[in-house]
Amino acid sequence: MKERLDRFMARANATYYATHNPYADFTTAPEISQGFGEVLGLWAAIVWQAMGRPDPVILAEAGPGRGTLMADALRAVGRVAPEFAAALRLHLVESSPELRALQAVRLPQATWHDRVDALPPGPMILLANEFLDALPIRQFVRHGRGWSERYVAESRLVEAPVPAAEQALPGLEAPEGAVVEVCEEARAVARQLAARFAAPSGGAALFVDYGPAARAPGDSLQALREGQFADPLADPGEADLTAHVDFAALAEAAHAAGAQALGPVAQGVFLARLGLPQRMEKLAAGQSPAQAAALLAGVRRLTEPHAMGRLFKALALCAPGLPVLPGFAAESDDHAR
Ligand code: SAH
Repeated sequence: MKERLDRFMARANATYYATHNPYADFTTAPEISQGFGEVLGLWAAIVWQAMGRPDPVILAEAGPGRGTLMADALRAVGRVAPEFAAALRLHLVESSPELRALQAVRLPQATWHDRVDALPPGPMILLANEFLDALPIRQFVRHGRGWSERYVAESRLVEAPVPAAEQALPGLEAPEGAVVEVCEEARAVARQLAARFAAPSGGAALFVDYGPAARAPGDSLQALREGQFADPLADPGEADLTAHVDFAALAEAAHAAGAQALGPVAQGVFLARLGLPQRMEKLAAGQSPAQAAALLAGVRRLTEPHAMGRLFKALALCAPGLPVLPGFAAESDDHAR
């Protein structure tokens, strides 16, 4: 019995998120600095202004974890943009009942959905941090002039030929033996959002995740268990499986569906443009030396290139009529990757 890699990954992660506290195995930007959710909330408030202040407006998050990002965002929005706070309706996309229960403690006013395409219609701003990296990938291996595909059998990878109808799926030149990854679910999410945003009052989505700015061959499937890398194929459901996000493929899917894509911009550059360092320096000024040091260490971890500042990136998908959104530059952002 063999199972295609994406189906294996979907099954393993569904079990993992339903049976584990993921924060025992890894940490994420909103858990590292409260400023992360705060500046994303202010980003959403500015985007809402640019959209013409629709009321009501859906504020959505995909994969909210323990709800930290959104709780920080709503606190900042409540202080700085009370009209946006009054207009927004909170919707969360979360497949794990256990994580929904955690989210409900901090965000009792929310409505939950299983999938992005189940969100109600209407103007929307969606935030997502480390959501796309958890979606299942397929892996293709270059052999001669064609491709084979990876399956999992008894905790090992095996290959099977790809039918002619799917030979174009990898869509990338690669040397003999190289692996090319395709995340069909992430592309479907980009397409669905783009179709909504193609309407003038459609809105915008902000994805922060890790991966290269340009497509390249490579095997990025990884498992994290108690902070350590583990074998992704052993013990499915016991570790968090992730893969690099293919930002270029998402931008392409969005363009094809009539929306605008901005970025990807390196997380360090993006957060600096949103004023995260200054915001946290101001907050630190009123704290004890130990608390101030912790606040500033969090900022460095999120922004410095050798930490999370460069591998993590921000990509926005939005309505074509919107002006350039905060954190993104009008000209090519090549230097910011
Ligand atoms: N954004 C949070 C959590 C990241 S972990 C943070 O930054 O801390 C990934 C999140 O996505 C979890 O909440 C997980 O349950 C959710 N998730 C993973 N796969 C999903 C899927 N296919 N559909 C909906 N939610 C999913």
